[in-house]
Amino acid sequence: MAERLVTKGVVLRETQTKEADKILTVLTAEHGRLAVVARGARRKNSKIAAASELLAYSELVLYEQRGWQILDEASTLELWGHVRQDVVLLSLASYFAEMTEAVTSEGERADEVLALLLNTLYALDTMDKPPEQVKAAFELRLLSLAGYEPLLADCAVCGRTAPEKPMLDAEQGVVLCRSCAGSAARGLLPLDPGSLAAMRHVVGVERKRMLSFALRGETLTRFARACETFARVQLDRDFRTLDFYKSLCMQPAISGENAKSDKI
Ligand SMILES: [Zn+2]
Repeated sequence: MAERLVTKGVVLRETQTKEADKILTVLTAEHGRLAVVARGARRKNSKIAAASELLAYSELVLYEQRGWQILDEASTLELWGHVRQDVVLLSLASYFAEMTEAVTSEGERADEVLALLLNTLYALDTMDKPPEQVKAAFELRLLSLAGYEPLLADCAVCGRTAPEKPMLDAEQGVVLCRSCAGSAARGLLPLDPGSLAAMRHVVGVERKRMLSFALRGETLTRFARACETFARVQLDRDFRTLDFYKSLCMQPAISGENAKSDKI
């Protein structure tokens, strides 16, 4: 009998294949990303159906066959029921999964990235913070873990720790005073003391406290815009799931809360 591998992981992507099978991209702590074949996962009575859903977090029992990891058994630990019922939150969580896939690789440990993803999905599921804040904090922290940590401690030109009218240079990953940026300022993202402090907090604080701050109005918007643009510029790509999330946000009538009240 082939040797069993027991691990815990989150499904980052599901691809339907022949008959009722799926190929899953799973993020684990010990093995990084894994490609897993889930045989029969699309059958209604399949015992691995729930664990083979996008974003499901499960304990998985795998065995190897012809170079593939085959899912033998699974017990689901977290399905994020609230996120799953809300099309907007689900699309945002799918973006988190797509981004995570983009910065991880097969066979490379991913303890911190997995923990970050789980914390973030938990925050989204319990809804104790605005989704915009959760999204921006995830983008910035994930990028930092992936080796793109921006230098936010002081202005990259004059060294002031409290840059005057601070701006983020998303390409260079540095913060600048408006006056130090000079004519280059047009391509930069405006911050303010609150949004800059939030970015420093997210990058520097222990993971469990990364969402313990509150921003409002324009300050939250600046924080969100800076983090999203920074991630897109550094990773040099667009995300299909982000485009979809944004298209839903522009149509508030179909957001989860309204959809629910329509049914009543
Ligand atoms: Zn300066």
